[in-house]
Amino acid sequence: MSPLFPALDSAADKPAVRFGDQILSYARLRAVATALARRLTGHERVAVWATPTLDTAVATVAGLLAGVPVVPVNPKIGERELAHIVADSAPSLVLAPAGAGLPDALAALPRIDVDPLAEDGRDGDLTAVDPEHPALIVYTSGTTGPPKGVVLSRRAVASTLDALADAWQWTGEDVVVHGLPLFHVHGLVLGVLGPLRRGGTVRHLGRFSPEGVGEALADDGTMLFGVPTMYHRLAEAATADERLTRALAGARLLVSGSAPLPLPDHERILAVTGRRVIERYGMTETMMNTSVRADGPPATGTVGVPLPGVEVRLVDDAGKPLTGDDGETVGEIQVRGPNLFTEYLNRPEATAEAFDGDWFRTGDMAVRGDGGCYRIVGRKSTDIIKSGGYKIGAGEIENALLAHPGVAEAAVTAAPDPDLGERIIAWIVPRDDARPPSPEELSDHVVGQLASHKRPREVRFLTALPRNDMGKVLKRELV
Ligand code: ATP
Ligand code: MG
Repeated sequence: MSPLFPALDSAADKPAVRFGDQILSYARLRAVATALARRLTGHERVAVWATPTLDTAVATVAGLLAGVPVVPVNPKIGERELAHIVADSAPSLVLAPAGAGLPDALAALPRIDVDPLAEDGRDGDLTAVDPEHPALIVYTSGTTGPPKGVVLSRRAVASTLDALADAWQWTGEDVVVHGLPLFHVHGLVLGVLGPLRRGGTVRHLGRFSPEGVGEALADDGTMLFGVPTMYHRLAEAATADERLTRALAGARLLVSGSAPLPLPDHERILAVTGRRVIERYGMTETMMNTSVRADGPPATGTVGVPLPGVEVRLVDDAGKPLTGDDGETVGEIQVRGPNLFTEYLNRPEATAEAFDGDWFRTGDMAVRGDGGCYRIVGRKSTDIIKSGGYKIGAGEIENALLAHPGVAEAAVTAAPDPDLGERIIAWIVPRDDARPPSPEELSDHVVGQLASHKRPREVRFLTALPRNDMGKVLKRELV
């Protein structure tokens, strides 16, 4: 396999990474990351204190150059979760920005301060690394349970990034703008390693803000990566900010992922900017599986088609593959391809259970419609409601609720019901706390758009939905 980042050797003066005013060219990144990589040899695994700074980009590239697996750690993580991740992944070293205070579980380890200005003046390449060797151990978002450590090989990272390059016509000319956290696949693999593999530039905002996005896109940004909560904020801000509207309208590609982008947000962004956001679908274990293509139909509301090299199928409850693309029959998504993870760290049983032969069971439910596009209806564990003999996806009811002008946020869950099996509960954050819409009005609004068995039987009001750092709704907390 070719090296992960060919441009490190060839792109010299071009900006590779930019965080605010700090910019490293490819030549500079090569020098500092190689110097750091030399100090990592002999280590089994390194934890990276993944602040949204240049240090995290340099530390991760150094780990990859050295062939030492990197465990990115959320710097805002709670103590218990950190203790679990440190015990589970057993790093022998931690890389952190100089001056960052580390919690006890990491402070006990040997540490190297990452300094994106430190070169060692030495030349010469590091040894080549086997493509099957673990590149990263990334913990899942913990949406449905405790985060699991996912071992990702260099081959899988390279293959997912190259497949996205094909789907998005992503080249070295592109400047990717984002403000995503750097301890998940979305921000770190797609958002940092992606531009570097293409020989382009990543422009990280440090902290997401609609103004920051507007400025970066108006300057030289060509692609924007974000999670749905960010696009929601952009839609709100763009309505009142012409500069932002123009910047979004001028971008080459607006990409959303990590959770479903509600249809009303798709529609608002289209109405204000004339641009459509495209969605891609992936997970820590598989990195990217499908995407709406830059050169294909817009397919709004779907996650598009399988990426090159990735096989995707839907299976019924008995595990039998579904054929056809009627846009109605719901099945679980299974995937197979060079993008798949190697294993869950220290969890051979969970790894075995996650596979049906060589197909990975994603736990996500979808239908396949026009042009072979997949539309995700929700997670098998939390979003499929069995009520009155029907199987109902929470997502379409959430979309219907969000289309009501009095609703700011909506989530739909199920509760046991003696008659129906399960009954539908709607959790609503009203736009105006003082005048929330009535439960009857909301239920009628849903039935005005969808079949009557999709009527919420109960409506509960909240001031905010519980969400994790990726903006994903934590449905297990809605009880
Ligand atoms: P955990 O596995 O710890 O419960 P998680 O599944 O949220 O958490 P990730 O691997 O970060 O952890 O997220 C993958 C999941 O995110 C997918 O299984 C899917 O449910 C959801 N997802 C990602 N992209 C999309 C998308 N475009 N539309 C809908 N859902 C998406
Ligand atoms: Mg998951």
